[in-house]
Amino acid sequence: MTEPIVVPLKKLDGKVAIITGAASGIGAVTARHFADNGALAVVIADVQDAKGREVAASIGSDRCTYIHCDVTDEEQVKSLVDSTVQLYGRLDVMYSNAGIGAASEQTVLELDLSRFDKVMAVNARGMAACVKHAAHAMVEKGVRGSIVCTASVSAECGMESQTDYTMSKHAVLGLVRSASMQLAARGVRVNCVSPGLVATPLAFEILKVGEEEMKALKAAIYPGINGPMTEKHVADAVVFLASEDSEFVTGHNLVVDGGCGLKATLLK
Ligand code: NAD
Repeated sequence: MTEPIVVPLKKLDGKVAIITGAASGIGAVTARHFADNGALAVVIADVQDAKGREVAASIGSDRCTYIHCDVTDEEQVKSLVDSTVQLYGRLDVMYSNAGIGAASEQTVLELDLSRFDKVMAVNARGMAACVKHAAHAMVEKGVRGSIVCTASVSAECGMESQTDYTMSKHAVLGLVRSASMQLAARGVRVNCVSPGLVATPLAFEILKVGEEEMKALKAAIYPGINGPMTEKHVADAVVFLASEDSEFVTGHNLVVDGGCGLKATLLK
């Protein structure tokens, strides 16, 4: 008698997920990684419509959709979650990843408070809106969901510049630690991932460097077996936090930095 063929389940089999900031960088790579790991549907949310549609099309219209969403606008975040639930029946995973930064000579002495407001609106307020509306959708449908936010190595240390960005990423930790306690009894987990330096458009913008300088910086931060760090290293961690492999993990900050954390002050 022949043995029955057992097809192993993939980590995200059947899951419906939203990823904000997925038109580019870490979010775009994670969207593809979610699909490769069996996600039933991945909704890409961003403000860069052409790039977002391109990423969705490259993954495939059968399992990936693009929805415009500016995370600073709570109505748009609510509508993103409602549309996802209407399209696919529920929401299992929210990866709240959209973030901005700006070129970085500023110390607190030169703090530009209008820039501060913009950074906080996306990186802190936007994350809170995504966690709030995803949690509503999960609790209302009785889904044992997973919410993952992108913080940063700068969420747990000071930086020699980037006061606004660093404050916004510390706020993400506060959000995750509080929301995880509040939602645990309802079966919803909330964690964050803290990447080190990855050469995305945001990193080029913050550090104001060209390709060669970025290479040198990465070589200094990730020597030997630890480097180079890519978007995929972060995506692997997010898949773990999104899947049942981490079913008893909540309120955690998973640092993915190849050991560069102590060198964060290099990122002036
Ligand atoms: P990225 O610039 O490639 O991607 C950020 C995405 O967020 C872009 O597609 C952008 O359009 C989108 N976005 C910006 N404002 C938005 C808004 N209001 N609403 C919806 N989408 C918006 O940069 P990335 O490096 O992939 O950044 C992803 C996350 O990773 C950010 O939260 C960032 O702070 C964090 N991070 C990045 C690094 C790094 O070195 N690249 C390190 C630590 C943390």
